[in-house]
Amino acid sequence: MRYISTRGQAPSLNFEDVLLTGLASDGGLYVPESLPKFSSEELVAMASMSYAELAHKVILPFVEEDVTSAELKVMVEETYAGFNHKAVAPLIQLDKNEWVMELFHGPTLAFKDFALQLLGRLMDHALVKRDKKLVIMGATSGDTGSAAIEGCRHSDHVELFILHPHERVSEVQRRQMTTLIGDNIHNIAVQGNFDDCQQMVKQSFADQSFLNGGQLGAVNSINWARIMAQIVYYFYAGVSLGAPHRSVSFSVPTGNFGDIYAGYIAMQMGLPVKQLVVATNANDILHRCMSGNHYVKHDLVRTLSPSMDIMVSSNFERLLFDLYDRNGDELAKLMANLNSGQANSLDTERWQKARQIFSSHKVDDDLTCDVIKQVAQQHNYLLDPHSAIGVEAGRVCNQHPEIPMITMATAHPVKFPDAVIKAGQAAPQLPQHLSDLLEREERCQILANDLGVVQAYISAHIQ
Ligand SMILES: *Cc1c(COP(=O)(O)O)cnc(C)c1O
Repeated sequence: MRYISTRGQAPSLNFEDVLLTGLASDGGLYVPESLPKFSSEELVAMASMSYAELAHKVILPFVEEDVTSAELKVMVEETYAGFNHKAVAPLIQLDKNEWVMELFHGPTLAFKDFALQLLGRLMDHALVKRDKKLVIMGATSGDTGSAAIEGCRHSDHVELFILHPHERVSEVQRRQMTTLIGDNIHNIAVQGNFDDCQQMVKQSFADQSFLNGGQLGAVNSINWARIMAQIVYYFYAGVSLGAPHRSVSFSVPTGNFGDIYAGYIAMQMGLPVKQLVVATNANDILHRCMSGNHYVKHDLVRTLSPSMDIMVSSNFERLLFDLYDRNGDELAKLMANLNSGQANSLDTERWQKARQIFSSHKVDDDLTCDVIKQVAQQHNYLLDPHSAIGVEAGRVCNQHPEIPMITMATAHPVKFPDAVIKAGQAAPQLPQHLSDLLEREERCQILANDLGVVQAYISAHIQ
């Protein structure tokens, strides 16, 4: 399988090069040139597979030129054996046709583990083969950082620099990053917001000279391999609840648009999906775009769902690429115009194409707490604030009450005790493997919101 850039200028690459390259050299994102498609018979067969078996089935076509079937089998088995629930991604029923898929049973208690536990293994496999080292730079709104550190910390081949916005992640999230101490792990708290961190990472890909010849890799969802791993659980949910005979809908708490984009890809690969609901918090540019074709950046605000405090959603570009008939030149122009503010909407016909699949809703902090409370009282089930936004958006946007609406529960409520307490619920206990988290030693460097300062720190700390 070949991968092409959304901006049409960078060379096409194979899987392993895409895995190690991150952002394309023209500033675009890599996507597969064409997608594998599963038949109804194959979907029927998926219903009886374990999570690891299904992951192998879905992922193999994307990687098979670089990773053998047997090697992939070992990687997915090891990855998902490390999850804390036998079903890996259990489905919980709240009501008739209202479901929650728990994606927080990995080591860091958020859905990012699904991709990053595998990504670490895939990268190691490629780097050992090539006898190469990789400097990884990642921006996190809270959950990617710890998941990336957990996924890469045992690798001798990667040096990991994680940028998080200073004082804008929850204490549990911060400690999950800063207490994982290792020679190849570097936590940087940037005195800015998530968009500042993400922008620094993208600029560093564009000019890597500060690495003195080193190569930069990505753990953010600009890396195709992350999307690829997340496609699996959409199939897992869909076939569990009746696909291919019955369609399903998903509501996805959305920040960088990576998770919901994986659902869109699952649909292109043959999963019968009726609706994809973009659930946002007060940082609602995607909701304004989806509902009113109005794409204008506002200032980022802090919310009780910090992992979604993102304005510029990288993966939205991958969807736009399809909406613009995969015309890289046209998309490069559109992205430049949207980013500079010269354009503030999509071409009407293309926007309407998106609306056939996607709907959206915005949920503010007060309503988020109300939903946590209501679901706790009525269904005896504790949602984290991100997942609560998903449930509410799924309810409001649901146009097909006869089919299952599945909300992706993206994090464990223990990561966000502030919202849980505000909702009048008892704060949950940290699981055993994290029970002493609040006492562990932290290691982190606070740096100015300045690309030069951050790059100088990185080049001084590469071993
Ligand atoms: C990362 C994250 C999101 C947003 O996912 P995207 O793929 O960036 O849209 C939502 N909820 C939680 C808990 C997250 O960690």
